[in-house]
Amino acid sequence: MNVLSDGDSKTYQHLLELDVYGDNMIISKEECLNHVAKRFGTGLRNNVKEWRSESVAIGGRKEGSLKESTILKPTNFYRKAIKDNAPDVQKMKTSIFASLFHTSSTDTAPKHNKCPTGVTSWCFYQRASTNNEKPKSHSSMKRKLSAQVLEEILPVYQRLANNEVLARCVSGKLRM
Ligand SMILES: [Zn+2]
Repeated sequence: MNVLSDGDSKTYQHLLELDVYGDNMIISKEECLNHVAKRFGTGLRNNVKEWRSESVAIGGRKEGSLKESTILKPTNFYRKAIKDNAPDVQKMKTSIFASLFHTSSTDTAPKHNKCPTGVTSWCFYQRASTNNEKPKSHSSMKRKLSAQVLEEILPVYQRLANNEVLARCVSGKLRM
């Protein structure tokens, strides 16, 4: 069983022994999801912290910087993207990166090609383009990431939204 990493296999073994949940496969999927989502959140937090301490020297906080409190949102989105798109690794990946590039889009540099299309899309830009309308300005977006922050957190996405990590969660789902 390679669904879980070493750190979690003890927990998993423990749950197996207890067998309190009856359905161990659901546990393994949840455990896996929780584990990667936690690593993702920690990764974001560390990178932003590092970037912040450097940027304080060159002018402090700017619009589009990632606050500690808003790290929770991309982390939840990451978790949801895995859950909703399993067992399709490619779809998980597209969905995770869509949220990242969507929030780092600007009027001069829109990056919505990974966002879902159609009138029911969560992406205002894609909805507008489906209706042949002019999309509203990106300045009205609630959550924005600056190019600088994007650069800082992209490695976390590359590390934890890669095929190997996502495939582990897929096997959790498939065993259900
Ligand atoms: Zn979008």
